[in-house]
Amino acid sequence: MARHTGRSYWQALTRAALAAALVHLAFSAVFFALHAPLMAWANLGSIGKLLLGVLLAGFYIGLDAYSRLQPPVSPIAADALDLVRYFNIAATLALLAYLAHYYFGAVLRAERRLHNLATTDSLTGLANRRRVMQVAAQQLGRRRRDGTPLSFMLGDVDHFKAVNDRHGHDTGDRVLIKVAGTLKAATREADTVSRWCGEEFLVVLPETDLATALKVAERVRESVRQVVVMRGSQAVNVTITLGVSSLRGGESLDDAIARADAAMYQGKVDGRNRSVAETLH
Ligand code: GH3
Ligand code: MG
Ligand code: MG
Repeated sequence: MARHTGRSYWQALTRAALAAALVHLAFSAVFFALHAPLMAWANLGSIGKLLLGVLLAGFYIGLDAYSRLQPPVSPIAADALDLVRYFNIAATLALLAYLAHYYFGAVLRAERRLHNLATTDSLTGLANRRRVMQVAAQQLGRRRRDGTPLSFMLGDVDHFKAVNDRHGHDTGDRVLIKVAGTLKAATREADTVSRWCGEEFLVVLPETDLATALKVAERVRESVRQVVVMRGSQAVNVTITLGVSSLRGGESLDDAIARADAAMYQGKVDGRNRSVAETLH
């Protein structure tokens, strides 16, 4: 992927430069035709960078050709001259290699930063909705190939609106960050914890059946219950209601997640601060 990014970036850059040069050329022709030579030259000048490169290369080639026709200013032995040439070539290649290395490093770092921005929730640092759906899709493929169970856990913080109303949005944000960390700590490395939306979190649990997922949900619920966020001297606590479901053969991700959502909703109706497994028919 990194290689591909480097190549496509370079191709895009070349194409853009070429297209820009052609557009400027077309504009200068139009301006010449309109008897506006100043504008026309300004457009030609815009191709400056490319032109400057060509001129510079031409100048160096010319200088090299000229120096070959002249008698040497301070003659050097042929062997030593070879050495100087090799050194020259080696130094140029080393410089080019360093520049290429630096350039590709910069492109890769930028690409990684963009990837993180596109797949991470900025408040909690968790995977965002897009990322968790990618992971779920990968796991769906695996589930279909070898039949390993795949479960989903959807958690919604209870009465969160009241937290915001009573303690302010900033405290609400701090609660969400703490809850996110708690979810991460209470699940395995292989699970993907995501911010699904607002105060809802979706966890993808690979290789996990429904009974185990329910146990994990209970662990999460208990951990969240113990979360304390201080607002001045005031302790702010929250609880969470969770619904779990397991993917059934042949069904879509959306269907399985909808069943976790329905189970969570049932937990809300039943009084909140609880973990509920989907109803099995
Ligand atoms: P329930 O127990 O039924 O889930 O009640 P609730 O109050 O949690 O549910 P409701 O959907 O009515 O309210 C969710 C609140 O979450 C409303 C919204 O302002 C708040 N919220 C969503 N995203 C953020 C956020 O990023 N930061 C903060 N501080 N609040 C948020
Ligand atoms: Mg909600
Ligand atoms: Mg809520």
